[in-house]
Amino acid sequence: MDNFLLVFILVLLYVLLLFIIRKLGLGSKKSCVNCNNCCPDCNLPLNRIKRLYKDQILHRITFGVFDFKRYTCNECGWEGLRWERKYTQKNN
Ligand SMILES: [Zn+2]
Repeated sequence: MDNFLLVFILVLLYVLLLFIIRKLGLGSKKSCVNCNNCCPDCNLPLNRIKRLYKDQILHRITFGVFDFKRYTCNECGWEGLRWERKYTQKNN
């Protein structure tokens, strides 16, 4: 009986957390003068690579809120997920 309520609250908190991450832009693409998606360590353009299986799982459990893709840096070897932040911007 109470377990249902607990699960409901946890899901609610989880969704709220996803919203906060989105709002703060955690893990979003970083832009600099050279490019609009650069390496967090050396500011050089990142290269898009194929998503791993765990990335697809992460995509599902976050309800696809973050349209993140996997990138790698040729210079320093950084590899990770980045997502596009400007989803609300409208084309005028
Ligand atoms: Zn780098």
